[in-house]
Amino acid sequence: MAEIINGKELAQKIRLEVKEEVKELKAKGIEPKLSVIMVGTDKASEVYVRNKSKACEEIGIAFEEFLLSEETTMEELLALIEKLNNRKDIHGILLQSPIPKHLDIRKAFNSIDYKKDVDGFHPINVGKLALGEEGFVSCTPAGVMEMLKEYNIEIQGKKAVVIGRSTIVGKPLAQLLLNANATVTICHSKTQNIEQIAKEADILVAALGKPKFVTASMVKNGAVVIDVGINRTAEGKLIGDVDFENVEKIASYITPVPGGVGPMTVAQLMKNVVKAAKLTIA
Ligand code: NAP
Repeated sequence: MAEIINGKELAQKIRLEVKEEVKELKAKGIEPKLSVIMVGTDKASEVYVRNKSKACEEIGIAFEEFLLSEETTMEELLALIEKLNNRKDIHGILLQSPIPKHLDIRKAFNSIDYKKDVDGFHPINVGKLALGEEGFVSCTPAGVMEMLKEYNIEIQGKKAVVIGRSTIVGKPLAQLLLNANATVTICHSKTQNIEQIAKEADILVAALGKPKFVTASMVKNGAVVIDVGINRTAEGKLIGDVDFENVEKIASYITPVPGGVGPMTVAQLMKNVVKAAKLTIA
């Protein structure tokens, strides 16, 4: 039976550490502040933003929300981002996705000051990650790496397979695993023989958004299985991309959904905001 990687517990530990750092910054006269831009209405985004706001409140990070209407133009969105880039009291800028289709999200991400890019989506931060340089790393992949570290899971020399190649999860996570000296394979929707490739993994990451996609027959005995997926069933229950019940029997470690990678994402965001605030005194 696999050991459960408790993301909820680890995230709480990180939050307490960040809370201490916030106290120290405030003693130096710096109040870390996160701004979140939401364009239009999206039920899932509203929940995510509420979680981020609650985490900020708990930790002592100031939070300012900008709710823009569905009809917002690209010029208006860019103008707001520029305003926030120039505001000295704001350390982190987060543009919640998705945004309405008529807007160019890449252009918007690119216009965020990379020193305030707490999501790690700006090309400079993406490039820094590729170069193995210090920068802002996307929160979900960074959270996964923290989990592996906390549970003393060896990465160097191991075979890691990441299913999913999105710019926010799959690619940066593959890059982080590569930087940590794993031998990495990335799978996507056009990959052939995915079952066979997955079965070779010492560390298998599912980040594709397909409920119970990873079945026990795709997992090597003793593999570490990380489930990034968040899927909602018809009954409103949250489930991951891994068939937890059966994979748990053969993996060495496994993350649950909920209570796994999800809480780590928010904790990493808090860490990134504090990092951004510290940059202003560096
Ligand atoms: P995404 O942008 O939709 O990307 C999904 C990736 O999976 C794509 O690269 C796609 O391949 C690949 N894929 C789709 N179907 C596949 C299949 N049948 N076989 C192999 N690969 C397949 O999704 P995302 O934003 O990365 O999110 C992935 C999942 O993680 C979602 O469930 C999301 O809700 C969850 N998530 C969780 C957190 C968290 O905090 N826990 C954070 C972010 C996302 P192509 O590139 O070929 O299309």
